[in-house]
Amino acid sequence: MKIAFIGLGNMGGGMAANLVKAGHEVNAFDLSADALDTAKDNGCRTFMAARDAVQGVEAVVSMLPNGAIVNSVYAEDVIGLAPAGAVFLDCSTIDVATAKSVAATATDAGYEMVDAPVSGGIAAANDGTLTFMVGGTQSAFKRAEAILNAMGKAVIHAGDAGAGQTAKICNNMLLAVHMIGTCEAMKMAEKLGLDPQTFYDISSQSSGYNWSLNAYTPMPGVGVPSPADNAYQGGFATALMLKDLRLAMEAAEGSDSAVPLSSRAAALYEDYNGAGNGQLDFSSIIGTY
Ligand code: NAD
Repeated sequence: MKIAFIGLGNMGGGMAANLVKAGHEVNAFDLSADALDTAKDNGCRTFMAARDAVQGVEAVVSMLPNGAIVNSVYAEDVIGLAPAGAVFLDCSTIDVATAKSVAATATDAGYEMVDAPVSGGIAAANDGTLTFMVGGTQSAFKRAEAILNAMGKAVIHAGDAGAGQTAKICNNMLLAVHMIGTCEAMKMAEKLGLDPQTFYDISSQSSGYNWSLNAYTPMPGVGVPSPADNAYQGGFATALMLKDLRLAMEAAEGSDSAVPLSSRAAALYEDYNGAGNGQLDFSSIIGTY
């Protein structure tokens, strides 16, 4: 298949390379010359403008920083310029409202479009083991699934346009809450004189069981190997968690949802990020307790 890929950063670079490995012909565009050079080394054909990259393609995949950029790239360089009948897959994490409105504009112009944000970081993007949560019609999903399979280990249809973004931000909002809860419980157990490993052994097999404790233990030397054992390098950066929490708070307000615990978690991550910890793994917030 001939596919245009727009946004070849930390995530998109590896994803585009995996499309090439799967036998697709990839037209790549990014504003960064370095990203374009890497894409070329990985077997992509590179272009100096998105509108040129989308000529003659059957699909457009994007992996961009935010909703404003996704909106402008599709409005100015993709919709009306890609061939009629092409399918669009936006894999960026963006706000639900923009995901819905870009999809509606694309649909009105005769294209099919899905929002397909990912779970999994840079390593999963490079290894082709991302999980995609997809919003769009059944027909758009079927077409997107064939392309997403080359970049991930799981592709799940979440519902109509915007449902992929909804799943992503609600999931990460829950992740922030159980990470902070896990940090608080581990530190309090320690202050009360319990050995943290003993607490882990008990709680990880009791009703305190949760992913942050069991699969991503935030304290060095305790529980399973995690970014805590690597000075909180790698993993999921605090700045990215905060980006997702801001999107979640915006969506909560827009949908009149009560989120008292999650808004507290968002405020704690705002403070932690503001103190210069944006590049550390999000579990390092345990250091504030
Ligand atoms: P990044 O900043 O490394 O990459 C974004 C790329 O988009 C950059 O190369 C930039 O030059 C390019 N870009 C910006 N504006 C552009 C435009 N107008 N036209 C073409 N290219 C443009 O970011 P990333 O880490 O790859 O993240 C991309 C998306 O994936 C974000 O929405 C992020 O929230 C999401 N995400 C990231 C991770 C992660 O671990 N990094 C995990 C899950 C989801």
